[in-house]
Amino acid sequence: MPRKYDFLTKTKITSGLQCHKKLWFDVHQPLKKEKAIFYGGNRFGSQVIKNYSKKEINILDLTGEFRQPVEKTTKAINSENIDIIFEAAFEFSNTLVRTDVLIREPDGWILLEAKSSTKLKPEHLPDISIQSYVVRKSLNKLGKKLKKIKLVHVNTKFTLKKIGDYQGLINDENDLTERLNENEIPNNIKELLPITSKDSICPKISTGIHCNKPYSCDYFDRCDTSSNEKNITPFTILPYIGKSQDLIDYMTEKKTNDLQKVPTRFFKDRKDYAPGYHQIIQSAHKKKKPWFNSNLKNVLKNFKFPLYFMDFETVGQVVPIIKGTTPYYPLPFQWSVHKWISKDKPVDKGKFFLKFNDQDIERQFIETLIQAVGDKGTIFAHNAKGTEIKILEKLKTKDNCKSLTSQIDNIIKRIEDSAIIAKHNFYSPIMNGDWGIKSIVKAIPNCKINYEDEGNISGGTDAQLAWFKNTDINETKEEKENQKKLLLEYCSKDTLAIFHLIKYLFEYEQ
Ligand code: SF4
Repeated sequence: MPRKYDFLTKTKITSGLQCHKKLWFDVHQPLKKEKAIFYGGNRFGSQVIKNYSKKEINILDLTGEFRQPVEKTTKAINSENIDIIFEAAFEFSNTLVRTDVLIREPDGWILLEAKSSTKLKPEHLPDISIQSYVVRKSLNKLGKKLKKIKLVHVNTKFTLKKIGDYQGLINDENDLTERLNENEIPNNIKELLPITSKDSICPKISTGIHCNKPYSCDYFDRCDTSSNEKNITPFTILPYIGKSQDLIDYMTEKKTNDLQKVPTRFFKDRKDYAPGYHQIIQSAHKKKKPWFNSNLKNVLKNFKFPLYFMDFETVGQVVPIIKGTTPYYPLPFQWSVHKWISKDKPVDKGKFFLKFNDQDIERQFIETLIQAVGDKGTIFAHNAKGTEIKILEKLKTKDNCKSLTSQIDNIIKRIEDSAIIAKHNFYSPIMNGDWGIKSIVKAIPNCKINYEDEGNISGGTDAQLAWFKNTDINETKEEKENQKKLLLEYCSKDTLAIFHLIKYLFEYEQ
């Protein structure tokens, strides 16, 4: 097992450069969180290995090898018999790195760093500089040279035409040799290494803008103290302006966190929100009462029964497994629909679709959906513009769905975005500045929907993880069944939550 204290890795240095406290948590109280992004990255990593394994060459694959990987790497480099090393391990200055691909050339080694992104991102440069520094120093100690560093990333133009044929998925043309800056790495190591010692104390750092730059920090819930002050709602809940530097600077200068102390000159209107929505939020928290738009009655008049509540789940496959799809195309794999025929009747039990890797998944998805929502009545979806409408528009362009264009158009025409309806007509202090459906349900009296139980799927990224698990040949049957069950509960919870929102608005108006 890798050791825990008094050493760094590339990931730990990256954490520490973002925030010392984040590094401290990584070492002393790490969160064990599975993420879809890791599955996508691993699948891409496997394709990178396959891509470079093709030729008649001698390979050392250290993937998953934790027993003396540094010694094995050193031996391979010195032996002259190995041409390519996958997951080579190097240690220098108490810093361990694992490299994706290392290629021997007569005049030195080429280092390839694989990222499952679609292009070089600014945050890749410091990250890969750590890698190149440790590899360069280690190779130099062995009398060898690191001559080139390249980024390997996903080619967005790739479309899967034949199952299993990933020719063209990998772009390895990005030469970073002249773009990396290793100068600061020794100082970074010196500064960060003490935080990894067993006795180091958790640094006192408050949450702020750095918690999302360049990566969103997984420890935020554990770390956020801004709402701990009694009777004070923090100004950071204000959408869009709560994390802006000018407001943070102003509030820091005034030595306050209090939402009620934000001057109106900072407030800004925004499309899709009620005019003066920052003021609405401030005032609702002051009065401790929800706000309803006085025009709500007229808004509700536009909705035609039967009402439908609809939600889609999609996944960016990274390495596509469905023919005709691209790496980050949002593949729709699940829908849930609830139907409410009239105000005096209960909502129905709901319908769903859930498939993972059927080659005609998109056709099945849309055919069953057309049946479920019929041809009349308003269809509500939360943030419909971001997902549901986009997916439906995309399906019209797919060869196997084109014949259903007029029915798809009929669905699009009937969609109302429940998030926009809520943003224009309702706010409760319980929502803490957020119109996400999970925050809205907390504000609806007697609504029993709860997303917070341990082990639940609690968002779209967990749903993507469930798709990856269900398409993973190494995953157990039990875990796949468990994930299916959780997906069904989750998606149907979302559509019921939208129902409760709309029902609540109707009840308010009666
Ligand atoms: S939430 Fe912010 S302050 Fe806390 S560890 Fe993460 S980056 Fe640091």
